[in-house]
Amino acid sequence: MICLSLIAATLSENLRLVARYAAYVDMLELRADYLLHGERAELDRFPRALPPGRSGAPLPVILTVRARRDGGQWHGGENERRQLLLHGVRGGGYRYVDLERWLRGSDAVLLEAAAAAGTTIIRSAHDFDAVPGNLARLLDSGSCPGEIPKAAVTPAGSSDLLHFVRTVSALPLQPRIAVAMGTAGFATRVLARRLGSMLTFCSPENIDTVVAAPGHIDPETMSRLYRYHSISGNSAVFGVIGNPIMHSQSPAYHNRRFAEDHLDAVYVPFEVDDVDAFFELAELIPIAGVSVTIPHKQAVMRYLAQRDPSVTGAGACNTVVRSGAARGGWKGYNSDVPGFLEPLQQAAAAAGWPELRGRRATVVGAGGAARAVVYALLRQGMELLLLNRTLDRARTLARDLGASGAVRCACLDDSAGREMAGYADLIVQTTSVGMAPDAESDPLPFYQFSGAEIVYDIVYTPPLTRLLQRARDAGCITVSGRKMFEAQADAQYRLFRELQLADSAPRQ
Ligand code: NAP
Repeated sequence: MICLSLIAATLSENLRLVARYAAYVDMLELRADYLLHGERAELDRFPRALPPGRSGAPLPVILTVRARRDGGQWHGGENERRQLLLHGVRGGGYRYVDLERWLRGSDAVLLEAAAAAGTTIIRSAHDFDAVPGNLARLLDSGSCPGEIPKAAVTPAGSSDLLHFVRTVSALPLQPRIAVAMGTAGFATRVLARRLGSMLTFCSPENIDTVVAAPGHIDPETMSRLYRYHSISGNSAVFGVIGNPIMHSQSPAYHNRRFAEDHLDAVYVPFEVDDVDAFFELAELIPIAGVSVTIPHKQAVMRYLAQRDPSVTGAGACNTVVRSGAARGGWKGYNSDVPGFLEPLQQAAAAAGWPELRGRRATVVGAGGAARAVVYALLRQGMELLLLNRTLDRARTLARDLGASGAVRCACLDDSAGREMAGYADLIVQTTSVGMAPDAESDPLPFYQFSGAEIVYDIVYTPPLTRLLQRARDAGCITVSGRKMFEAQADAQYRLFRELQLADSAPRQ
């Protein structure tokens, strides 16, 4: 179930939000700690004012007045908070009321009122710093008979997330709410049902950029992009790993493609700070395949049982899928290689070049993506100048690709313009300079375009970087990183799709 946390300051604004999201949600949580003081008197009547939900039945509502020590907005005293909870519960319309674990033993009046109103207790615990060692006990329904246990905890990184998933996966199937908050826990919000949580919480989009808890997204994105209601234990789980990752456009791309092809699969961002922990998690969930981005394109290579020549050649891997006997091992690909070349070949054709062989190019940057670019260009028979801020990294790249003799390396500074003059048929920009939010920066401020160069900036946010705009103004043919992004994502998607179709085909 998708549960929308209602965090507006007035009941009428909350009703407007319910109408806005009714098609996507199954449940509501009235966060009465966000209400203006004058709104509280009417809160007992709120559930009866609601329109029916997706199924036509009344939407169940949780009443929550979250204390500040649990991340809430309640500024009044504790007695006043309990009176408000009591007032709401006695109204009889709330299916659930959220009571914190620390209230236990001092909440007899509330329990009595809830029993009389037929309201079920959600017994909640929050940790905004860690995944506590006693998570299993917090989620054990035996420790709160007749109540639904809830734990909202905060993984600091991948090994905490592994601990969270391992713990919830080992629990017996009983109603519970388990949430890993923050960016490191985001995947658990999308996979909540699969991880045995009876619901996932969402916040309305853009209420002054406030969300009810760290990691909330809006219900429409959860329902339409992530197809929350169709994710089951059988759905294939794919994802993207990187750090940071929440800005990635890959979930929008791959989930849209899965939906268009009617595949039972979901694609989730995983913020990964520890690749070893992630691969353990991948066995546990299990995960069928991932896209790999900064900074893990080389670190994942030690997990590969098989490597496509694009991985061996570029010395970097951006796609990992299960392969081999009973899908036991991982196979790596580098879809940046074909993804980079496809738009370049179109631009070269537009420039009237019969072929790339023999042309001279400057590659700016020597990071993970540059490996795929240099490998692809060398395979096309081009001569290269490789510029990087850190010269040693450029040399290492050339050496790793077995191309020390074929690639001239130099430092990316004001003097590089002279070197570039001899390698200016094509200029490929692969550093992260110019990428949003640093969109005003130009990695080659010293270079004046003649207009004869093909200029390719692989940065794709924004699609037209400052560098590309300058090249375009000078009359150059330009290629946006957006084209590479789409071509490499398409190559990746075809691998995911092939795997998903093979695994979902009926066995003979
Ligand atoms: P990376 O491995 O972290 O490498 C970053 C590169 O940028 C290094 O060469 C680094 O130089 C350079 N750099 C960073 N800050 C700099 C600065 N202030 N001045 C000069 N150079 C600087 O990253 P990556 O994986 O190669 O990705 C780089 C960019 O390509 C990102 O914007 C990414 O989004 C984009 N990309 C696009 C696609 C696509 O499909 N269009 C695919 C992959 C990557 P040092 O070595 O001196 O640190």
